[in-house]
Amino acid sequence: MERIHEVYNLIDHAYKLKPLKSFNFTLSDNEKSMVKSHAEEPSNFDGDNFRQDMYAKGQLSGVAIGMHIIYIIGHFTKKDMEAIKLWGHILQALQPLKQYIVYWFLSDEKRIFPSKGQKVGPTNVNGGYCQACRPETIVIYRREDATRVFIHEMMHAACLDDHSRPLPAVEAETEAWAEVFYAMLMAKEHGLSPAAAWNIQSAWSAGQNKKLREEYGVNGPADYAWRYTVGKELVWRRWNLPVAPPLRGVWSSVQLKTEPPKHKGNSLSLGAPPFLFAAHSG
Ligand SMILES: [Zn+2]
Repeated sequence: MERIHEVYNLIDHAYKLKPLKSFNFTLSDNEKSMVKSHAEEPSNFDGDNFRQDMYAKGQLSGVAIGMHIIYIIGHFTKKDMEAIKLWGHILQALQPLKQYIVYWFLSDEKRIFPSKGQKVGPTNVNGGYCQACRPETIVIYRREDATRVFIHEMMHAACLDDHSRPLPAVEAETEAWAEVFYAMLMAKEHGLSPAAAWNIQSAWSAGQNKKLREEYGVNGPADYAWRYTVGKELVWRRWNLPVAPPLRGVWSSVQLKTEPPKHKGNSLSLGAPPFLFAAHSG
């Protein structure tokens, strides 16, 4: 549990700092064309091209937070701005020396399990990508779970990966870290103890992983989804982090403070939904 507390302390410290200044701005022509090229570039992750769909709607705006820039493609709401404020805390916790630039396409497409017998692929689990060691190249293309994706991509962009290992192992470790950071951020936001927040996140993952192993045959690095799911759980176990038993009946057993998602019980969002953390707070 030591690792959890170290991350929590890092985030706790960041919350005590003066928050990064943020303001909204309108895009220049040059910025608009950068957004266009990110919407159009081919991506193995966003094979369904949610980015193009959002870009076609023609709603562009920008948010500066500290020295970092978030380009928004789609209808930007107050809730999205709240998410960006969380990213600000993460940026303050990790204290990057370079400017981060994020292209955030606000698609409402959810991550869900495919029908039985089908392979779990990028369209079921992924939500962003970037180029390693290049903080100005982060693309996030779903609204769901964007904060957890931001943390994951930020780690790649910050050059934190050990590229001497095979890609699935690198991804599993990055995702293992990202979810620890995400859970500790949720602990801080919702006034939970680090252990309570970790319990929620690890139980959420354990539930998905059980289903992935038993019903979708995701058992090793050769299965695409392994790196983000079963593989990351192995990393936690290697770190001696406790993994809570799978969450059962989660959608009905908690006192919901917000509307439950339509894809009830079938979610492949890797970060446990914020309402679960909220439901367990004082
Ligand atoms: Zn990754």
